[in-house]
Amino acid sequence: MVQAGGNRSLVLETLRRLSPCSRADLRQATGLHISTVANIVDELIQADLVEEVGTGDSSGGRKPQLLRLKTDRLFAVSAVVQYGKIEVGLCDMEGVVRHRTGFKLPKRVAPEDAMEQLSDVIDHTLRTSEATGDHVLGVAVAVPGPLDADQGVLLTPPNLPGWRGFPIRRTLQNLLRLPVAVQKDGHLAAFAEVWFGRQHVNHLLFIMLDEGLGGGLVMNGQLVTRAVEIGHMTIRMDGKSCNCGGRGCLELYASGIAWRQNVAARKADDAVTDFSLDDLLAMAEAGDADALGALEEVAWHLGVGIGNFINLYNPEVIVLGGRLGSAGVFPHGTLLAAARQYAYEDLMRKTAVETSALKSDALLLGAAAHVFAQMFQNPAVLLRPGERWANA
Ligand SMILES: [Zn+2]
Repeated sequence: MVQAGGNRSLVLETLRRLSPCSRADLRQATGLHISTVANIVDELIQADLVEEVGTGDSSGGRKPQLLRLKTDRLFAVSAVVQYGKIEVGLCDMEGVVRHRTGFKLPKRVAPEDAMEQLSDVIDHTLRTSEATGDHVLGVAVAVPGPLDADQGVLLTPPNLPGWRGFPIRRTLQNLLRLPVAVQKDGHLAAFAEVWFGRQHVNHLLFIMLDEGLGGGLVMNGQLVTRAVEIGHMTIRMDGKSCNCGGRGCLELYASGIAWRQNVAARKADDAVTDFSLDDLLAMAEAGDADALGALEEVAWHLGVGIGNFINLYNPEVIVLGGRLGSAGVFPHGTLLAAARQYAYEDLMRKTAVETSALKSDALLLGAAAHVFAQMFQNPAVLLRPGERWANA
């Protein structure tokens, strides 16, 4: 016999997948007794999380009432901490960013000050938006790693040196009185792809190709929260030294930084070479031969890394995201040719390589998906809305 929480989780998850559906559909999909399904549905309707939305087709006898999870009324707050800024979003369970805002971080900002400001911004967002406190399930913060996700503490962030060891989760939770989770950005982007985009996919690798190279892995439908340092896979044993302590890491050859260095090396000595990633993308789109040639090299190297990864994990889908990975100008053909050369043919055939449909919202939506998924695992909290603010 599954515990009550487990049955509720099962019914909620099934409702999310099948909505609108009848109680009989839920019984069939979950294998639970019809009275158990009916009791849980009653609880969910009372908690204003589920509604009846008319009748469905009858297979003989009375037409069944159809049920719908009120996914447009369940909200999560997302915060994305990046170098120089924090982006904030209020997202619903349909995957819509209902409200977005953000603020700049001064260069040497103390993490305490940044969290105070973040708390004020979130508080203002909640007070002025359509989401009432009752339906805001929690907050998730996306950060660059490395990170102790259980404690919500940043370990040694290269671009946020003053934040080393800072307890983001505890600090923000005390300020907001809402549940707060902290997770690595690449992991959250990977989770967004399966939660909002590809619900039938169980094994997915997300590659965030932006200034750096990161990513996240979903296996058996679950986010792998242990480190997935695809950027620090060695692809050249005698290669350049990396600040991770290794040598010949993939990120040194396949990233926005690598692209910039490669373009600079191709330009004449006296040319301006201090390009931003957006500059480089504009140059490539305008047909700059150096930018395009250097980008071919980036794509080839990333394809080699992806070929290795396919041999190890054989994900069903590899999703490319980040400003560079999802740019129209990125040469996918080159990447695929390299992956094909280095992966087992049979495994390569079973892996699709696609571009993220979520684009720049991947991190906001990934953080929101993390809040929703956690709440689905502990639905008792969902059923006591009044206590959420007080006991967070
Ligand atoms: Zn490295």
